[in-house]
Amino acid sequence: FGTAALGLMIGVLQDAHRFAFADELTGLGGRRAFNEKLLSLGDRFAIAMVDVDHFKRVNDKFGHDTGDQVLRMIASHLAKVGGNARAYRFGGEEFAVVFPGKSVREAVPHLETLRACIEDYRMQVRADDRPGHADTGRVRRGQGARMASLQVTVSIGIAERDVLNSTADSVVLAADQALYRAKDRGRNRISR
Ligand code: GH3
Ligand code: MG
Ligand code: MG
Repeated sequence: FGTAALGLMIGVLQDAHRFAFADELTGLGGRRAFNEKLLSLGDRFAIAMVDVDHFKRVNDKFGHDTGDQVLRMIASHLAKVGGNARAYRFGGEEFAVVFPGKSVREAVPHLETLRACIEDYRMQVRADDRPGHADTGRVRRGQGARMASLQVTVSIGIAERDVLNSTADSVVLAADQALYRAKDRGRNRISR
């Protein structure tokens, strides 16, 4: 059994592992990858939960495919977050960002950059073309797809490991509660 064959097999297994743990839509790590990451953290880390603001409206107005496109756009911003962070798709339109070795104070500037980049981004999407406007429908077909500029924002909750939240699970819970405060306070912001 040659070294090459062994190397090939290891490569196949690594790919299988990556696919099992990756989120199909965004390419970020999925929920399983996030859970695995939580097991590897030491006694100093911060976790942020990121949720798209009024995402249901995007789906309702522009359709599910455009909603998916928005999630991919947000994921591409999340993949670039600094501070040694790693981003995951937690589920639906909610993402998690893990900062190993960082406090909330150290992580916040990186998240603020992320929040502002997403707010400033303008996505070119196919304009609202739900049925119900028979007269304009014909015009649109003649001119090709009408485009619109779409802006979305995210709310972020963050928490760190400390005496009150001593396990990774409790830090996740605390970050989720902070996220609700960010929503309550008006969205497009970071709360702790
Ligand atoms: P809030 O600002 O309070 O977060 O409002 P919201 O509309 O973002 O929150 P809500 O929980 O009411 O709606 C979330 C929506 O996200 C509902 C669901 O259909 C949509 N969604 C979840 N996963 C996906 C997905 O993979 N693709 C698309 N296009 N939509 C998704
Ligand atoms: Mg949500
Ligand atoms: Mg939302």
